[in-house]
Amino acid sequence: MAGDYDFIVCKNCETPCYMFDLDRKGNIQSAFCTLCGNDDVTEFRLPDADETGVDE
Ligand SMILES: [Zn+2]
Repeated sequence: MAGDYDFIVCKNCETPCYMFDLDRKGNIQSAFCTLCGNDDVTEFRLPDADETGVDE
């Protein structure tokens, strides 16, 4: 499903983060990296297609 992500990626440590909220447009509204403590939404990105692990 487009715009539906299981995780986003912390730019700071390149780690998948599961604590986040997206708005209806798929923009990151809030996020928190449990690994490095990053909570700046500008320091996160949506995963690339090859990172989402879609089995098709
Ligand atoms: Zn991080």
